Amino acid sequence: MRLLFILNEAAPLYKLGGLGDVGSGLSQALLAAGVDIRLCLPYHPQIKVSDRHLVATGEAIFAAEPLTYQVYLTYLPGSAVPIYLIAEARYLAVTSDALDKDVAKAAVFCLCLADFLSRFSAWKPQLLHLHDWHTALLPLLLKHRYDLNLPSLLTIHNHRYFGQAPLSLLHDLNLNPDLCQVLTWDGQDQTLNLLLEGVIHADAVTTVSPTYRQELLQEPGVLFDALRTKVGRFYAVLNGLDYHTWDPQTDPHIDRRYTTATAPVAKSANKQALCRRLGLAVISSTPLIVFIGRLDPQQKGLSLLLQGFQTNRFPPPKAQFILLGTGDPQLERALHQAADRLPTVHLATRYDEALAHQLYAAADIIIIPSSYEPCGLIQLIAQRYGTLPVAHAVGGLIDTIKPPTTGFLYTPNTLDQLLSALDQALSYLHSPSETQFYTALMSLELSWKAATPIYIDLYTATISGDMKG
Ligand code: ADP
Repeated sequence: MRLLFILNEAAPLYKLGGLGDVGSGLSQALLAAGVDIRLCLPYHPQIKVSDRHLVATGEAIFAAEPLTYQVYLTYLPGSAVPIYLIAEARYLAVTSDALDKDVAKAAVFCLCLADFLSRFSAWKPQLLHLHDWHTALLPLLLKHRYDLNLPSLLTIHNHRYFGQAPLSLLHDLNLNPDLCQVLTWDGQDQTLNLLLEGVIHADAVTTVSPTYRQELLQEPGVLFDALRTKVGRFYAVLNGLDYHTWDPQTDPHIDRRYTTATAPVAKSANKQALCRRLGLAVISSTPLIVFIGRLDPQQKGLSLLLQGFQTNRFPPPKAQFILLGTGDPQLERALHQAADRLPTVHLATRYDEALAHQLYAAADIIIIPSSYEPCGLIQLIAQRYGTLPVAHAVGGLIDTIKPPTTGFLYTPNTLDQLLSALDQALSYLHSPSETQFYTALMSLELSWKAATPIYIDLYTATISGDMKG
């Protein structure tokens, strides 16, 4: 099966959040399972590869201007997965905003790729696996501008990032709106929802946890109406972890590596080393609570932390807290204003892969106060590193946390509820015995092993047109 796996991020080349983990982890698992898979990403300016070769140079018209693009072939570093990088000087070479919301960039990426697929590619994919709104225009473009019928499956990793574009984007792409049927669904407010175009035009749609799928099917709105109309072709496949990247026994970023048996001593040593480096008091008996994630005010529940800092109710007495995250600049400033004076708090408002690994390996508890969470990889990584998640009971967090042994869930998403769940988690820490505590978390099967055959079955059904609904 020849599969082209198209997305905006793949670690370690380019990663903003969980999508980058999926890009590398799932693609490697599929390759290992025998799928003839290639990745495709925009050639973001941050991507650095030394060994690449040019496979095509082409031209596509966007906004009535000719754009020249190049397609390079290389390998995802540290793997045998081939990857196409699409380069273009005007739109794709720009460094995007912190949350990658540049609609014209996404549209040009889809256009250049569609052009490449229709004219040059010697390796012909049988199926496109598209991820999120950045890639969602492809089925429409291939069908209506290039007259190419390639089966496609679209995965929704986060519905709130849908890519909102003016209707003029259709003209820029030289797409006749009447042919597209998009206006019937989508034209009333004079903007396009790119994710919705993907849902309408893809042959099948998946999302990343069963509970999130149910939540989406219950939401009001046109995107969800579209999902309801193809409910028989809308599946949930729970995300997994790449065990090569996330393994406390081999992790090159952490001070002391460990197994379940050595976790108590090693995690305590990691905590002390980390606190020393970050200038926090070094007291091994003090529990360490962490937050890791994109600073997205709509999703990640950071207003609870702000409220907690401002009222001196968070972090709880006798606990230390470290936050690692970047994103919304206003939110970063507000967090610093509220917490820089607190002696038990350290805020690292940057992207720092090594520090993320060190936090998972040092922390006792990770908090996830997200208002919604499609799957969430943070709790899975934390569990693998023997760190107890305390999370709002929503989406994939419900599917992956079984209280009390693999974490704590609370609802509604208020500071009171978060603090009360934290209280319970702090008293549960390392009980009933340290061995049982770490075994329950660290022996969970969290790899891509379960998801891989499910995706292969879905690919097969999509290619053969056997989708229900
Ligand atoms: P989302 O997909 O919403 O970003 P996930 O929980 O699925 O959230 O995945 C987040 C991933 O991004 C994890 O691998 C996490 O360690 C990583 N991450 C998030 N923010 C940072 C940061 N500032 N520095 C390093 N890694 C980060």
